[in-house]
Amino acid sequence: MNLEHHFAQLGEAFSSKTLIQPLLEQRLVEFNQSLAVFLSIDIKSPSIKRVLSGQDVVPHSVSMVYAGHQFGGFSPQLGDGRGVLLGEIKGQDGLLYDLHMKGAGPTPYSRRGDGRAVLRSCIREYLASEAMAALSVPSSRALALYDSREAVYRETPEAGAMLLRTAHGHIRFGHFEYFFYQGKQAELDQLIAYCLQHYYPACLASDAPLQNMLLDVVKRTARMIAKWQSIGFQHGVMNTDNFSFTGETIDYGPYGFMEDYAPDWVCNHSDHEGRYAFSRQPGVGLWNLNCLMRCFSKHLDRDMLVSILQTYEAELQSHYDDLMSQKMGLDSRHILHELLPSLFVVLASEKMDYTVFFRLLSQMQESQFALLLDEVIDRERMLNWLTLYQSARLDEGKDWSLVGSDMLKVNPKFILRNYLAHDAILAAEGGDYLPFRRLLNVLSHPFSEHSESEKLAQRAPEWGKSLEVSCSS
Ligand code: AMP
Ligand code: MG
Repeated sequence: MNLEHHFAQLGEAFSSKTLIQPLLEQRLVEFNQSLAVFLSIDIKSPSIKRVLSGQDVVPHSVSMVYAGHQFGGFSPQLGDGRGVLLGEIKGQDGLLYDLHMKGAGPTPYSRRGDGRAVLRSCIREYLASEAMAALSVPSSRALALYDSREAVYRETPEAGAMLLRTAHGHIRFGHFEYFFYQGKQAELDQLIAYCLQHYYPACLASDAPLQNMLLDVVKRTARMIAKWQSIGFQHGVMNTDNFSFTGETIDYGPYGFMEDYAPDWVCNHSDHEGRYAFSRQPGVGLWNLNCLMRCFSKHLDRDMLVSILQTYEAELQSHYDDLMSQKMGLDSRHILHELLPSLFVVLASEKMDYTVFFRLLSQMQESQFALLLDEVIDRERMLNWLTLYQSARLDEGKDWSLVGSDMLKVNPKFILRNYLAHDAILAAEGGDYLPFRRLLNVLSHPFSEHSESEKLAQRAPEWGKSLEVSCSS
């Protein structure tokens, strides 16, 4: 395994040397074969097995230090409290990817935490990150899952586990905040140079490197959040320490995939004020970017920073429009802007399943309204909407079945429903990983039919709707 250590080489101001501390009877229980091939890692080879389970030392493994705005308040020092960056490794695309072990044991940034992760949260992160990647959302990826016989104490004792994950970068908005609020200008400059070199080389070669890099960060963040909104993903903890400078979705905790359509839905049970509610995510993205821009107030003047921030809304809106027009099978923006608000009113008052609705819409032939009418209580209201939708489609004059088959490629049949994750976790905690693997398989190919796994496309039973997820994992 050809690990490089560029981040570690930035020096002690940026990270602390930290080793993986293996768990009791740690076992590799799942690994991502295609990702391993992409990164040229033979996870099952004995030497790599020893490194990845912490039995052999990676000489330059570190935990990163950063700060962050958490639920609006600033925490001047956070950091990888339970994560170890093993190094960077080259993918087949020539880019470097971080190898990061979550739940690797205490670090200098653990504060009062134990540095561990439980099997439940590792499985949730594994499933979510792979589901997101399959839905083409920029995301960290899961490379390997380890379970153990070590007890980790949360509300009750649970099984300890580790998740080996990759991302293009693990640098967070909070990395910049950490140096900025301490007035550490030299380190801030070093971090800027590092990001330009490693993540934004095209900007480095331009006439205004920092300005162009920040424009790119705004763009990537806007597009990532547009994607979240289009698929119904809610992050749950959009603190600036969980926001990636490379525009990737990271740190899956109490996230949720929307089932019954409800714009004010709050998936994180600990988010009492609904700060990170589904409909607030685009606004929070801007708030976070605003925090980030402040860190460059000694480099660029205020008007410049404001003008960079002002690109966010248009980028998010236009990408969201593109995504929703594909989901609806409509080209005309004018019609889309008319039809979407009225659709959302119908979906919200019917508490209709967001994913099921778009899947059925994709399958509906010209006059097969019954497919959707049978799903609702107020048939007349749905009929009115479908009639408007049908006439818009007919006006565009495209072959109905061709448009439908394109829609099936963007409207998934399978999403990570909370009750499915719950079932997979319960089974895994009892030693049976088959339900986890079955679920992972459909989530990795969410647009295919998988007729053998029809059950995994079904809406939650009543008990599955009231499951709660919170920050403690
Ligand atoms: P999160 O909201 O999960 O991204 O975590 C926020 C901060 O708490 C990060 O600095 C984490 O590294 C840290 N943290 C979370 N859980 C633990 C734990 N069990 N032990 C040590 N630090 C933790
Ligand atoms: Mg975090």
